[in-house]
Amino acid sequence: MSERFAAEVGGTRLVLLRGDITTQDVDAIVNAANPELTPGGGVSGAIHRAGGPALTRAAAQIRRERGPLPTGEAVITPSGKLRARWVIHTVGPVWRGGRHREADLLARAYRSSLALAVAHLLRSIAFPSISTGVYGYPVEEAAPVALRAVRGFLRAHPQALDEVRFVLFSAGDLAAYRQAWEGLPAEAPDP
Ligand code: ADP
Repeated sequence: MSERFAAEVGGTRLVLLRGDITTQDVDAIVNAANPELTPGGGVSGAIHRAGGPALTRAAAQIRRERGPLPTGEAVITPSGKLRARWVIHTVGPVWRGGRHREADLLARAYRSSLALAVAHLLRSIAFPSISTGVYGYPVEEAAPVALRAVRGFLRAHPQALDEVRFVLFSAGDLAAYRQAWEGLPAEAPDP
């Protein structure tokens, strides 16, 4: 299977690719953050390492001002040393078996991030696979939720963005997102 796949939704390019989110040349990358906005491990640790102390300080200041970030919400900070100028921090749900509003909260994390990007007049954004690492959300279940949420947002906000990129860390994750995209019902209303 190819390492890159692209589609078009409402005038926005939707790209699925295998790669490292910390090196993406987009306006904003999204961090799968914890509510405390501390570096932690996984993709968040990698983003904070690459962004350096200025990014970690900016996140800590938002935490002091606003308290812990609720699941499904998003905040934006400058990125420090990253190629992308902005980091949008959002908190995905911890997987607790699937009957605790996980899908709704995951969709909200994607929508909140996109809304923040548009509000800041950004044109391109890259997402990791939110919640499917330490938070335990099975990637085969998360991928269709993520893609439907993004597709719904892009349909509702035509041309608001030039590109939305999913940067998947493993070939297996990319395959899961690719398969989920092919399997999305064309006309189903998106949440
Ligand atoms: P969560 O706590 O939301 O589950 P994790 O960071 O544990 O977040 O994992 C989310 C996803 O990010 C996982 O699929 C993990 O493999 C992936 N990931 C880790 N490092 C990177 C990176 N540098 N770029 C893109 N994805 C990454």
